[in-house]
Amino acid sequence: MNDLTQCVLTPQVPTEGFVPLAVGVHRASTIVFKDAAAYASRLNRGIQGYSYGLYGTPTTRTLEAKLSDLEGGAWTFLAPSGQAANAMAVLPFLASGDHILIADTAYPPMRDLAETDLRRLGVEVDFFDPLSPQDVASKMRDTTRVVWCESPGSTTMEIIDLPRIASIAHNRGALVGVDNTWATPLNFKPLAHGADIVTEALTKFVSGHSDVLMGSITVKEEILIKPIRSLIGRMGIGVSPDDASLVLRGFETLGVRLRHSERVALTFARKIENHPLVEKVLHPALESFPGHEIWKRDFLGSSGVFSILFRQSAAPHVAAALDAFRVFAIGASWGGTRSLAAPMSVQTSRSATSWSGPAVILRLSIGLEDEGELWADIERLLASIETPDKAA
Ligand SMILES: *Cc1c(COP(=O)(O)O)cnc(C)c1O
Repeated sequence: MNDLTQCVLTPQVPTEGFVPLAVGVHRASTIVFKDAAAYASRLNRGIQGYSYGLYGTPTTRTLEAKLSDLEGGAWTFLAPSGQAANAMAVLPFLASGDHILIADTAYPPMRDLAETDLRRLGVEVDFFDPLSPQDVASKMRDTTRVVWCESPGSTTMEIIDLPRIASIAHNRGALVGVDNTWATPLNFKPLAHGADIVTEALTKFVSGHSDVLMGSITVKEEILIKPIRSLIGRMGIGVSPDDASLVLRGFETLGVRLRHSERVALTFARKIENHPLVEKVLHPALESFPGHEIWKRDFLGSSGVFSILFRQSAAPHVAAALDAFRVFAIGASWGGTRSLAAPMSVQTSRSATSWSGPAVILRLSIGLEDEGELWADIERLLASIETPDKAA
C-alpha cells in the first residue's frame, strides 16, 4: 500500500503470549465492524456490545465489572464524577408530578440538584430525617418514585436503617438509591440491604490519589439497566479510558489503604473523644456514637473520615487553628493518600431536621502519612485551639 495509507492503517501485530496483569488503556471514539452485516446488526448485540467509545471500551467495562462484582449488582455505569453518578441515578426515574424523598444529610449538591433542577422540572421534593424510618413512612406518597439515602450522612455521619427504609419504600413502589462513598463497596453492600441502586464517588477512596474524578452507578436488577443506559447516552455522558485506568490502578490498593486509614482514624477518634475541648466525635465505629448498633449490624468496617464537634467555647477558634498543621493539608475532597482537614458548616443544608451543634465542624480524612507525625499535628491543632493567641 501507499505510504500515506500505511501511515493511517494499524498494522496487525501478534498479541498471543502477551498476558499483562495491568488493564490496557483502550482509547476509542469510533469502533469499526468486520463487515456490513455486523454493522447493520450492531444494536442486536445488547448492552455487552461495543458500538461507540462513549458507550464503553474494554478499559471502562473492566472497571464496571469489578464494581458490579463488589457491589453485587447486575450492571455498573461510570460517570465523570460522583455527583454526576448521583444525578444520573435518579433522573431516569422522575417526571413532572413525581415525588422524591431525600435524606436530610445527603451530599449537599444532591440537595441542590433536587431543590433547583428537579423542582424546576415539576418533581416534588421532600427531605427526611435519616434517623427516622417513621418520617420516611409519613412522607411517602403514591407518586414517590425514589427514596435517596446516604449512610453515614455527609459530615455528620448519621447511620440510616437501610433495610427498614427500603421496605417502607418498596411497599409503596418506590426505588431506593444509596450514595455509598464513605463506606466504599468494601465496607458496606447497600444492594444486599435493600437498595436498588448504589452510587460511589470513585474520586474519593477508590481512586485514592486525589488526581481523578469519577463516579459509578450500580443497579441490582437488570430491569434498571435500560432507563439509566439510555438517558446517559442521550445526555452524552461517558468517561475516558485513561481516567478509568487511573481508577483501576487505585482500586488494586484500596483494601490496604482503607484498612490502614480505618485503624488510624479510629485510634485518633478514640483519643480525641476524651479531649476536654471536644464535645463529641462523629464516627460510626465509636461505641458512643448513636448509630453504632446499626453500623455494626450492617457494615463490614469503617473508613478514614470522621468529624469533630468542639465545645461552644472552642468552636470559634477551630478554623484559624488549622494553620498550626504541618502534615495535614486543608481541603475537602477526602479519601486520598494525604490527610486532610476541612472546616464544614452544615446548618444551611438541613430542612427536615435542625442542627443544634456548633457552626463549624472539623472533618478529618486520614491518609497514609506516619501515624506519629499525624498525631503530633493533631496535638498542635488542639494546643492552638486552647490558646489561640499563641497560634503558630
Ligand atoms: C465527594 C462526594 C460526592 C461527589 O463526588 P465528586 O466526584 O466530587 O463529584 C458524592 N457523594 C459523596 C458522599 C461525596 O463525599
